[in-house]
Amino acid sequence: MDQVSIMKCDDYEPEQVYKALTTSLSLLGDSSQFIRPGMRVLLKCNLLMRKKPEEAATTHPEIVAAVARWVKTAGGIPVIADSPGGLYTERALRGVYRACGMEFVATRDDIELNYNVEEVEVSHHEGKTIKSHTVTKVVEEADAIINIAKLKTHGMTLYTGAVKNLFGVIPGTTKAEYHLRMKKLEDFSDMLVDISSYVKPNLSIMDAVVGMEGQGPSAGEPRKIGAILASASPYALDVVSASLVGIPLDRICTIQRANERGLCSDLNNVELLGDCLEELKIHDFKIPFHKKVGFIEQYFGGDSTISQFINNKFGPRPVFHYEGCIGCRDCERNCPPKAITMVEGKPVVDMKECIRCYCCQELCPQETIEIKRSWLFQTFK
Ligand code: SF4
Ligand code: SF4
Repeated sequence: MDQVSIMKCDDYEPEQVYKALTTSLSLLGDSSQFIRPGMRVLLKCNLLMRKKPEEAATTHPEIVAAVARWVKTAGGIPVIADSPGGLYTERALRGVYRACGMEFVATRDDIELNYNVEEVEVSHHEGKTIKSHTVTKVVEEADAIINIAKLKTHGMTLYTGAVKNLFGVIPGTTKAEYHLRMKKLEDFSDMLVDISSYVKPNLSIMDAVVGMEGQGPSAGEPRKIGAILASASPYALDVVSASLVGIPLDRICTIQRANERGLCSDLNNVELLGDCLEELKIHDFKIPFHKKVGFIEQYFGGDSTISQFINNKFGPRPVFHYEGCIGCRDCERNCPPKAITMVEGKPVVDMKECIRCYCCQELCPQETIEIKRSWLFQTFK
């Protein structure tokens, strides 16, 4: 049975975070079970894009600093890394580290920031969807990986946590190729489980002190949850984290795909340690509006052919609000099927080409892209 520890943590005051984190980790076992002295330990954060820590789109720097301190105490060498959305260049990394507060904690606490933007091809014969991947070289060079996720909603996958965070080992714009090859949510989720099973993080930690609800993963609202969670299993960690905020597990495709492989997908398969999950639960956590189960899904079933047909015809789609658009072209650059063209400095989508991956909404720095359902769905809400 997988173990998940959960500790109450009310805010990001550094000593409080360190205490909650180290208590949570000590419940899982001695640090020597996870890392040994001299190991180069990659801290795989969620650094989606240039966002301030208080916007709750990225792993909070004080959580990362606390993990780095724990690694150093165990004799390891922590390295902060991620491949954010967009270009994977040293310049892009520098901007993200600065905006997300990583540069600040790295300077304050003498933690290494990764600037190696090399990529390597790796084989993964056990992969169900893909047998080889291009991954960031820093992942391959690490002796151990600690996966430090942020608990958020997501326009495509509904929930993003530990398993989805590992998609960030795929360099920059290569991620778009995965969206193109795996257009269906089921296939995309299988691919996420493949990547997670390739990376096999030594530990996974969830920053759920303040998560993101609503239109996540970047345009939602920060929501205090008040907990730090940890587990050796990213699958078990997602099961407990999603339960903490009341997102039904049967609606999270990565959890369902993990279930098919006999991986943890149910609270009954988890040994809970630390503070009481029930007492920390959030009962009104908002999911993206377009992900709410409506009349069509209730009547015909979410996975039925007729639901999928109606969804394709009338389902959610990106809508651009031009008044906030600064014409930066990030949406155009990151659209996997190149369905977006710029017309007079503003993006226009060819909906016949759109695969509804919502990368545009995820990466728009102005939060001017909304995922909207058609009148049909809104009428029957
Ligand atoms: S990413 Fe956002 S701000 Fe930039 S061009 Fe697209 S809609 Fe406009
Ligand atoms: S327009 Fe947006 S949602 Fe559609 S394919 Fe492009 S990035 Fe994905």
